[in-house]
Formats: sequence, C-alpha cells, structure tokens
Amino acid sequence: MTQPVFRFAPSPNGYLHLGHALSALLNFDMARAAGGRFVLRMEDIDGTRCRPEFEAAIVEDLAWLGLEWEQPVRRQSAHFDEYRTALDRLDAMRLTFPAFESRAEIAHMIADRDVRERWPRDPDGVPIYPGAARQMRHDDRLARMARGDAFAIRLDIERAMEWSGPLTWAETGSGPQRETGAIAADPAAWGDVIVGRKETPTSYHLSVVLDDALQGVTHVVRGQDLFWATSVHRLLQSLLDLPAPIYHHHRLMLDSEGRKLSKSTQATGLRELRMAGATPADIRRLVGLAA
Ligand code: GLU
Repeated sequence: MTQPVFRFAPSPNGYLHLGHALSALLNFDMARAAGGRFVLRMEDIDGTRCRPEFEAAIVEDLAWLGLEWEQPVRRQSAHFDEYRTALDRLDAMRLTFPAFESRAEIAHMIADRDVRERWPRDPDGVPIYPGAARQMRHDDRLARMARGDAFAIRLDIERAMEWSGPLTWAETGSGPQRETGAIAADPAAWGDVIVGRKETPTSYHLSVVLDDALQGVTHVVRGQDLFWATSVHRLLQSLLDLPAPIYHHHRLMLDSEGRKLSKSTQATGLRELRMAGATPADIRRLVGLAA
C-alpha cells in the first residue's frame, strides 16, 4: 500500500485563525496516526490579495503550533504553466468557453431574472452563471479576444458531465447535513464554473485538483464549507484522468454568533492568542482536540 499523504493548503491572504488551526492540526494528527506524510501548499494564485508577509506569518504560526512538514512547500503561483496545460486539455476536449460578461453585467442579468422568479444559487449562495456565452459564434469569440477584451474561461458543465458520467466520492467526515459514506457528486449545482481567466490560467477548483494529484495527496481533510465544492473537484479529476483522494470534511469553528470565523476576526487569530499568552496546548484545547 502506498503511504498516505495529507496536506494543509492555506491561502496567504491573511493571518491564520482557530479554524485554520483545527484544519492544520487534524491533518497533522491524522497523517501521524496513519504513518503518513504531511505537506504544506500555499494557494496564492490571487496575486492581488496574497502577500509574502502573510505566507511568512503562516509558516511561523504553524511551526509554533508544533507542526512539521516536508520541504519544499509548493507555491501555486510558481506553477501557472502546469495549470495552463490542463486548461488547454479541457479546451481541446471542447468543454470550456470564454465568457466576456463583466461582474456588473452578470449582476444586472441576475437582478432582471430575479424579478420574474428567484434565479438559482450555487451551494455557496452565488447566482448560477446566467449568460449565453456558450452559444457565441467562434468568429465573434475570436474578434473579442483580438480586441483584448477580458474574459473568464468557464466549464460547460452539461457537456462535462456527459463526458464523465455519474460520479461519487468517498467521505469519511461529514457534510453540512451530516452526509457521509459514498456521496453522489452534483456538479450541475454550480452551473458553468470558472476554471480560468484571461490573466490567470487557473481557478481555485482547477489548481486544487491538479496539485492534490501532483503532490500525491491521498486524503483531503478540510472544512465542511468546501464539502459541495468536492462535486466540481471530482468532475475535474475525471476529465483530467487524475486519481480521487479520500475526503474528510470537518466541523467548522464558529464565533459566538454562530458564524464561520473569518480572517478579520482578531479575537480568534493565532497571533493575537499567542501574544495574549496562549500556548500550543491551549490552542488544541480551544479547537476541541486532545493534547
Ligand atoms: N485554500 C483553501 C482555503 O484556504 C483551502 C483549499 C482546500 O483545502 O481544498 O480555504
């Protein structure tokens, strides 16, 4: 049997909080218990929000917590060529299309449709892409690209699902409604998801599945907020012939009002807690893990 590989994959666009600590510690503990490896990955494709100082702070906080990981750390911003190759492959399969609508235009279309009947939302509550760029004539696409117009590269979800057929994933944790076991993927719930942009040849979904495969990740342990994103991940794995890891979605750390922690809630920031005198053992207790 191959050695299990676990990973923690933060985005260096802010400081870590207790929710990240739970995720990182769970991955580390599960890797240890399984005699597995533990890798760290910086998900920094968004060059406008990710900063080296956040990355340095993340590394410092994780080391303080007592975690050890393999070197080198994979940094997504160093791998755009690999993502572009995958995008080209999806394009050659005729499963993607450029969509030129701006965010404002999309918001306007949704507002229009919502007047008649509430337009469907994806599992994150974001309206499904309403546009018709999938039907655009090839010549028109080329003309707009030649003009230098901005565009998003979207996956034709229906065609992609025809290609892949029905998919499931193995869930050893649980979803928002306690779903566990073999879960039926439902990529259609996301509509024609964005897999890249003119300026950035990838998206969260595309880079996460490629990196998990390239790093040999066998177990994806992450928060329940990403449970239904796994539908898209399974679809992309199937289209790109990548192996499917086992998924374990864990409970979320909530604030006193029951909301998911955010990077701006200072009271639960690891740095603030450390400054206030908390020890790594205190953090373990605070996130509900055994010392
Ligand atoms: N980078 C993502 C985040 O910080 C996590 C991605 C994943 O674990 O799949 O929310």
